[in-house]
This record gives sequence, structure tokens and C-alpha cells, in this order.
Amino acid sequence: ANPNPIFPENAIVLFILFCIIIGKLGPWTNALSLDIKNRLRNDSESIRTASNDYGNLIHEIPSSVLYPSKINDIIHLIKSSNARSIPFTIAARGRGHSVRGQAMTRGGVVVNMTSLSKNGSRIRVGKNSLGSYVDVGGEQLWIDVLHATTKHGLAPVSWTDYLYLSVGGTLSNAGISGQSFLHGPEISNVLELDVITGQGNFVTCSRKKNSELFFGVLGGLGQFGIITRARIVLDKAPTRAKWVRLIYSNFSDFSRDQEHLISSNAPNYVEGILITNENTTNDWRSFFSSSSNQSEIASLLKKKGLLYSIELVKYYDNQTASTIDKEFQLMLKELNFIPQFIFNSDVSLIDFLARVGNLDNNPNGQLETHPWLNLFIPKSRISDFNAGVLVNMLPKLNYTSGLYIFYPLNKNRWDDRMSAVTPDEDIFYALALLHTSLPKESNIFDKFNNQILRFCENAGIKVKQYLPYYKSKEEWIKHYGSKWDIFQKRKLQFDPKMILSPGQRIFNSVS
Ligand code: FAD
Repeated sequence: ANPNPIFPENAIVLFILFCIIIGKLGPWTNALSLDIKNRLRNDSESIRTASNDYGNLIHEIPSSVLYPSKINDIIHLIKSSNARSIPFTIAARGRGHSVRGQAMTRGGVVVNMTSLSKNGSRIRVGKNSLGSYVDVGGEQLWIDVLHATTKHGLAPVSWTDYLYLSVGGTLSNAGISGQSFLHGPEISNVLELDVITGQGNFVTCSRKKNSELFFGVLGGLGQFGIITRARIVLDKAPTRAKWVRLIYSNFSDFSRDQEHLISSNAPNYVEGILITNENTTNDWRSFFSSSSNQSEIASLLKKKGLLYSIELVKYYDNQTASTIDKEFQLMLKELNFIPQFIFNSDVSLIDFLARVGNLDNNPNGQLETHPWLNLFIPKSRISDFNAGVLVNMLPKLNYTSGLYIFYPLNKNRWDDRMSAVTPDEDIFYALALLHTSLPKESNIFDKFNNQILRFCENAGIKVKQYLPYYKSKEEWIKHYGSKWDIFQKRKLQFDPKMILSPGQRIFNSVS
């Protein structure tokens, strides 16, 4: 007999079933308007895309994906989460070009930012008393910003190497490339942002207005709000780029020349790569050298084990075309590269900035993983790092397949009030170990990356990870160092229920 006549047996069963259905259907069934429910999808294609990224290493399954058509859809979603006794997590996904699940959420809702501009571009060039700027939707790709602004004879001054990345996703990290030594990272060139905070408040912020949110969001790994618009500084666009690559076998010459170049404003772009083996010929940005050069480089490489290359660009236009060669020669005269290894190119600004094509078209994309490690290394220990990691460890990595980018940056171009973290020295080097591997071999690279981090730890080299990936809160606290208190305070202020960007694993642990 049923001991509880007021709550009959089948009612209990029905109640349990009801709870299961609510739980299964996920968070969007409660308190969401019909309009937004129609924009949530959990079909297999949406879930599959949202549970993978460029790294192809981590897969977190969300309960659904929001395809917003307007900013209000995102506000509504975040407010609905806040209204629940147990909020659901929300991850903005720009282009999903993170490599360790940073734009994912397990069981929460992924916001497919791209759908905001489905009905047309959200890029507008404008001008005020301070100069030209472009207002860009957070979901827009830098490649579209390039095309839209150069039509007006204008362009942003700071870029990433690869332009098929979203503005919101890169501003959540920093956005670095060979222009950053001069103009700072992309985050240093933002005038104003529209942000939807973790409480669902729509806030316009800048250095002067709501500055705590502004500085928090720039390099803030998506923790404080979703960027829906960024106002970015524009300058007159040059039309052409004179572009050279120089090769070095001696590290001191290479680093001295790189540091010399970034101490002046003679070049517009300074980067470098490491030549370890096959990437000499198989470079995603092409080496503009003939096959005879390739064999000379290969034999030098065999002798030395590792070579270094500086990539140097100076922009020009019709007005400066007559002096560019002379200016370039003056710049080169001061450098100590191997004289026979200088490779020249001269291309349009657009061809230079868009030199890395759309990698999403790679037919092997699904078969590859990208166990990358990006580091900022303090200049004072760069020789020790070179000897211990680049000379000693890197050439022994038999599985090498990828690109190793290596160049110095000036810290005075970074605003320390922003969330982005850099070493505590005037100059630091950015090293991007962009490994490509088969899924079954990715653990070899993970092990290698960990070895590097351990080497730095043991040698007391205070590196900082760029595009950081940590598994424990202690590691995050160490990463942020003196910035941890403000970072945590901002989280409590703007996303107190810890709803946003759980894939970064800072405030939300993922088992
Ligand atoms: P996603 O992976 O979609 O998101 C990254 C993080 O930002 C997530 O936490 C996400 O939740 C959050 N987020 C996304 N959109 C928003 C938004 N609108 N508001 C708030 N938070 C948001 N970086 C450089 O600095 N320089 C380079 O030259 C460079 N080259 C790259 C080349 C390749 C091939 C790849 C794969 C990456 C490269 N990166 C480079 C790294 C890149 O900048 C970051 O991975 C960046 O996050 C990618 O942008 P995304 O739109 O794909 O971000």
C-alpha cells in the first residue's frame, strides 16, 4: 500500500520523470522566451562543432548552442542563467581557434558569435576629433576588418599573423604579431568596447568610462563579459610591404639584431622563426627561396643543428617608393646575418597581412591535432633558454612538424592595467611552438611542452604562458602573480556566478 495518500505513487514517478526531462532538456527550457528558444540548437552538427576547436585535443559537450541574431539574445541568455538557482555556464565561441577547449563548456550553452553578422557585416569606419577608428562586431574576423578598412585607405596598426580569428577571441588574449613591438598588441589599440557582463548587463567601456571592465576584458580570457563591439584605432594604410628574411647560425647575432631592430621605429614588422628541419621548406608562409638555396640551407642546418631567421618588413606607398630601397639598405647594413642568405619580396599590404591563407580549408584538419605551447620569455634569461631548450631539446624532437615563431617585444607597449600577463622585464621574447601531430602522437608533444616548462622552473626562468592552459587553480594564481587579486576581484564584480568561459578552467574546475 502507498504510505503517502496525499502524493500517490504514480505522481512520484511522474514527478521524477518531469525532473529528468527538465534536466535533460537543459537550461533553456526555463525562463527563456520563444524567440530565444528558437535560436538554440542541439542538433548533432551544432554540438559537434561546439565541442571541438583548432587544437582537436579536448572535447566538451554543451547542452546546446545559441545562434544569436542580435545582442539582446545574448543578454537574455545570460540573464536566464543568472535567474536560475544553479546557473548554467556560457562560452562565447568566436572562431574556435583555441587549442585546449577554451571556448567550450560541458553541459552549458555555447554562443556561436559568428551568427551575429549573418545578416550583414558589422564593421563601420568612423572619425572623430581624435582620429579615425573602426567599430567592429566582436564576432567579425580580422580578415574582414582588413578588407573593410583598406577600402577607405585606412588600416589597424597591430595584427595577428593569421587573420581568420575573431576580434572578440583575440582581444580576450592579446593579439600579437611582428607589429606589436612598435604599436603594442591588438589590445593596446582598442578605444572602446561594448560588453555584456556575466550578469547580463550591457556596458560601454573605455579607458575613462567603466575602466575596470575595459581593462579587465582586454586579455581577460572571456572571464568578465562577452565583447559585442570593439572600437579600434585606424591609421593611414600603406599600400606595399618590402619584406625580407635573413638567416643566422649564431644565436647572439640573431638576438642582438632582433633587439636592435625593435629598439627603433625603422622597421614596421619584426619577427623570427627557428629552422630545425623540414619546416625550412614546408613553411606555411613560404620562404621565397629557390630550391638551390634550400639545399644550401639544409647543409648548413645539418652542420649547426639549428638556424634562426629574422623576418623584417618596411611598408611604403607611392610617396615613399623612391626612398624605400635606400632606407631598407641602411637598416640591413647594421645587421649581422649570413650574407648569402637574404631573401627579398615585395608585395601589396593586403597580400602581406593576409599571407597565411584560411587554414579551415585544410582537408587534413580533422586528422590533425595542435598541441601548441606559447611562451613569453624574459630577455635577461634568453641565452639560457636558447641553450637549454632550443639548442639542446628542440632538435631532439624527432617528430617535429610545425612552425616555431620567435621574436622580442617591448613591454612598454602593454598597459599593465589590462588582464594580459607578461614577464616583468622591459623586453621579452614570444616563442610559439606550433606543433602539428597525429592524434595518437599528441602526447609526445604534451610531454615535450611539459619538459620545457619544467626546465624553466628548475632554471628559475620566469616564463609566462601566452594563450595559457593550466589545470589547477594554484597554477592560475602563479600565472597571474601580483595581478591575481585584481583578476579575482573583477570576476566577483562582473561575473559573480562564474558563468562565463568555463573552458579556461580558472574559476570552473572541469574534472
Ligand atoms: P575562440 O577560440 O573562439 O575563443 C577564445 C576565448 O575567448 C574563449 O575563452 C572564448 O570563450 C572567448 N571569446 C570568444 N569570443 C569572445 C567575445 N566576443 N567576447 C569575450 N570572449 C570571447 N594569436 C596571436 O596573438 N597572434 C597570432 O598570430 C595568432 N595566430 C594564430 C594562428 C592560428 C592558426 C590559430 C589557431 C591561432 C592563432 N592565434 C594567434 C591564437 C588566437 O589569437 C586565439 O586562439 C584566439 O582566441 C582565437 O580567436 P577565436 O575567435 O578563434 O577565439
